[in-house]
Amino acid sequence: MPAPQTYQFKNLVQSDGSVLSPAFVTVQQGRFTRVASTAETTPITDYKNATALPGFTNAHCHLELTALGPLPEQRFVPWIIELVRQKHKLANNNMQAGIIKGCRELLRSGVVRVFDHISPETPATVFENLPLKVRGFVEILGSHKERSLKSWQQGKEFCASAPLPSHLTLHSGHTVHPDVKNAFIKEQNRLLSIHLAECESENELVQTQQGEFAEFILKTNPEITKAELSNGSSALQILWEQNAFSNSLIVHGNHLSDNDIKLIAKHKDLCVVHCPNSYAFFDHGGFDFERLQQEGIPVALGTDGLVSNTELNMLGEIQSFLKTHPKTDLATLMPMITLNAAKALGLADEGDVKESYKADLVLMHNTENLEPLQLLKQKNQVDQVMLNGQWVI
Ligand SMILES: [Zn+2]
Repeated sequence: MPAPQTYQFKNLVQSDGSVLSPAFVTVQQGRFTRVASTAETTPITDYKNATALPGFTNAHCHLELTALGPLPEQRFVPWIIELVRQKHKLANNNMQAGIIKGCRELLRSGVVRVFDHISPETPATVFENLPLKVRGFVEILGSHKERSLKSWQQGKEFCASAPLPSHLTLHSGHTVHPDVKNAFIKEQNRLLSIHLAECESENELVQTQQGEFAEFILKTNPEITKAELSNGSSALQILWEQNAFSNSLIVHGNHLSDNDIKLIAKHKDLCVVHCPNSYAFFDHGGFDFERLQQEGIPVALGTDGLVSNTELNMLGEIQSFLKTHPKTDLATLMPMITLNAAKALGLADEGDVKESYKADLVLMHNTENLEPLQLLKQKNQVDQVMLNGQWVI
């Protein structure tokens, strides 16, 4: 067994925002074995000028689209049309180079794990040899029945051969043929990570079968009936009635109704993922963080893909969020960038610097002795990253 390594830090910020100062952290075989404010063993590697934090979780991304971004179009439905057009032309080697580039950028901003949405037709090989931990959510997609059935089959094949942990999910509530959506939910019983209530026209579609989004879907598949599009009072409730929401990430949730929020609050294993810069890119509006907080609903931050962002930088997302929610304290912010999304997915030993947890952490040089929140507001890169007990930056 390799010898344990002990590190001393100026301070350590835990996932609940509490700060240990000074901090001595021992790592062995890729896990933390001791976290304390006093040393027990020697030798000790000295990082006395650095603040340590748990490695960040990017709760939502589309790494495969990195090579295409950012797209100049910022209106939501025209953006989708342009994205589909561009993606058809993207060669696998360029896609793979984009994925690696995106991962490296995220790593430099302190991300150690990414919850990533993947198209089922993407070859699994483009995800080989990634520099950080990526968990794939392979999207069933297509308003034509045959198309969505095909993507389900392709998704199964991707998951069976993928070099990363992967799960099947629906792209969203409305972009999968209703029969296929129902059959999938019946079979898998969990959605895990799904785009929901991103834009206002998604609810308009459900409630009135009109608006930009409804027109787009009906145009894509004229065989779909308006009745099939709308059999509930909100995008969330249609799926909710099928009991598919345990241990899941609800991505965006910008336009959740009051009733939606009350339903989500009943389950303690759900998490709403907010992507601050993508939200600003589309000028979506509607995200009510305070309301989610009031109901005790966990929120996590994500970058979304570079196609609807200007960079893949978790510190940039944190800073955007703090600008729009300036009263946020460290205790509120920390679980949003470390633990909340991992916990919702049932990953019990990731996202914190605690004994027996996987040894992932980031260091920020802090010779000026800044408060941790100030540090997160000022830096656009971290200085070192430990992944499974190894320094990778
Ligand atoms: Zn997305």
